[in-house]
Amino acid sequence: MTSNSNSNRIALVTGAAQGIGRAIALRLAADGFDVVLNDIASQTALLDAVKAEVVAAGRRSAVFCADVSVDAEVKNMVAFAVETFGGLDVMVANAGICRARASLLDVNPAEWDQTFAVNVRGTFLCYQHAARQMILQGRGGRIIGAASGAGKQGYGMLPDYSASKFAVRGLTQAAALEFGKHGITVNTYAPGAVVTSMTSQFPTLAGMSPEAFFADQAKLAATGVNPTPEDIASVVSFLAAKESTFITGQSISADGGRYFD
Ligand code: NAD
Repeated sequence: MTSNSNSNRIALVTGAAQGIGRAIALRLAADGFDVVLNDIASQTALLDAVKAEVVAAGRRSAVFCADVSVDAEVKNMVAFAVETFGGLDVMVANAGICRARASLLDVNPAEWDQTFAVNVRGTFLCYQHAARQMILQGRGGRIIGAASGAGKQGYGMLPDYSASKFAVRGLTQAAALEFGKHGITVNTYAPGAVVTSMTSQFPTLAGMSPEAFFADQAKLAATGVNPTPEDIASVVSFLAAKESTFITGQSISADGGRYFD
């Protein structure tokens, strides 16, 4: 076993039932982590299927359904990871929601609040409860959030979502400053357009076929290719690794060269 082995390291991934979260969970399992899988209760069947894949990869896995916007549920989720596997080394606050709108004028305040409840409050709660546990353990840790290209450049169809992802970046920078002294790094991944259930709503709103819409998105990237969930998971794998000690407070664009910081 090398000093970089992830054996006996425990990761928790929120929104892990599908899409990018599922790919992250499977990648971390391949990297040697035991993985706690979270999503909302209605996603239990999908979560159980991801758990079976993690176990088939030779790692331990457990499911904890919780709404990341509810403080007590996030607290219990972290406690569950500790009770089940003995600690928490990596928190991936991946869960998020996005409702595309033709215009900012169509966003009602209740929808705004819901976007911020899941994307910002949910990320804050995951960061806070994970950091409390990691500080208690005294062995450092990795906290990783989901930003977006829309959190670096506002997107017209996504006003509330863009604002929420800018907020995630601000939170990540503040957390990195505070937790660095404990050996805890805090970063985000900022994907471009990944074909998932979340982005499947965009073509209709743009009045385009999915093929034409995603081909147009790909043209915005230097590589001319849209990232896959696995491409995003590879960035998370890097940020979660023990060696990535010296990267913190960053939001890493994973978009094939669409947005340059
Ligand atoms: P997705 O919609 O396919 O998956 C999101 C998952 O989060 C779902 O399983 C959903 O049930 C879960 N979730 C939603 N609300 C939750 C809550 N309150 N508590 C727990 N789980 C909840 O989305 P995705 O495309 O896989 O996106 C994953 C993350 O990456 C999101 O934060 C998203 O904003 C971000 N992102 C995605 C893209 C993209 O192009 N797909 C681009 C940039 C950023």
